[in-house]
Amino acid sequence: VALANNVDDPPKIRVVVRKRPISKKERERGDEDVVDVLSKAGTVVVNEEKVKVDLTKYVEKHAFKFDEALDEQVSNEAVYQLTVGPLVRTLFRSGRASCFAYGQTGSGKTYTMSPLPIRASADIFTYMAQQQYRDISLCVSCFEIYGNKVFDLLNQRKKLNILEDGKRKVVVVGLKEFAVDDVEGVKALIEEASKQRSTGSTAANSDSSRSHSIMQFALKRAAPVAAGGFRRGEEPPEPRVVGKISFIDLAGSERGADTYDNNRQTRLEGAEINKSLLALKECIRALDSDARHVPFRGSKLTAVLRDSFVGDQARTVMIANISPCSTSVEHTLNTLRYADRVK
Ligand code: ADP
Ligand code: MG
Repeated sequence: VALANNVDDPPKIRVVVRKRPISKKERERGDEDVVDVLSKAGTVVVNEEKVKVDLTKYVEKHAFKFDEALDEQVSNEAVYQLTVGPLVRTLFRSGRASCFAYGQTGSGKTYTMSPLPIRASADIFTYMAQQQYRDISLCVSCFEIYGNKVFDLLNQRKKLNILEDGKRKVVVVGLKEFAVDDVEGVKALIEEASKQRSTGSTAANSDSSRSHSIMQFALKRAAPVAAGGFRRGEEPPEPRVVGKISFIDLAGSERGADTYDNNRQTRLEGAEINKSLLALKECIRALDSDARHVPFRGSKLTAVLRDSFVGDQARTVMIANISPCSTSVEHTLNTLRYADRVK
């Protein structure tokens, strides 16, 4: 008998929309909250009467239904419980998970995403304290994809290459990984990564809204040591990855439209962002179908996340962040439409 709502087997894809509150500053400059969230129905409506521009030219509809529609009252803890929380348990049984924050710059992606790994690690450590998981350790890595380059955010923004091995497995060569054994350790790494992310902004005259930042947790089980140990000069066996989760704070979705910018660099970056967000949508959609062709190679982002994406054990949560403001309505509709098509 199939359970209707089996908590042990979260859905392959979950799409959640989160609206942020309007700020005092926005109100003062005459902005209005034009987004209605009907939580019970999981619906988000862009209120046409409050919006002064003609919306009909942008999209065919202005009401969208999702797995969850979260209004500005919803706490980060509740967001965790509705998104990543149910996935943590799966990581201890070969689960692969990814959680994306999508949306325009200023819509709340970082506000939403940054507490999630910390909160998840608290649950992970609770599991790890159990006898059966005593031999599992948590390893953390963090990198940024900027244009088509990859930088290690936990190793002074060292530029890294990605390679595909013989088994079509994509590896970020030389990515630093840190074993962590408490929540404080995870927090410290997140702080370091976020510092490295903004340092890059000033140094390279770029900004973090044009980069994807990816934090990964790998749960590893030490390989059993053969009777008698291993011989001198012999490498100890590699620990085995049990489960893996990636937290992805995506580039501002509006940056994908910079493809007509006068500045060549900006244009190239915009094209890359556009390409990666489109490839991401196609890859997530393919998870739910029997699609033969999954365009992982379509972008650096999807190539790097490939192993978290494929297989029966893969689970993806997309959190689409939206601003309530009347002046952001075009971007909001673009985000809603993107999230709508992911499923
Ligand atoms: P993004 O990463 O998408 O550019 P941020 O996460 O930096 O956006 O959010 C923009 C601003 O809005 C920040 O000042 C942030 O603190 C605030 N904010 C975003 N979401 C919320 C929320 N749900 N509740 C309260 N403030 C929020
Ligand atoms: Mg941000």
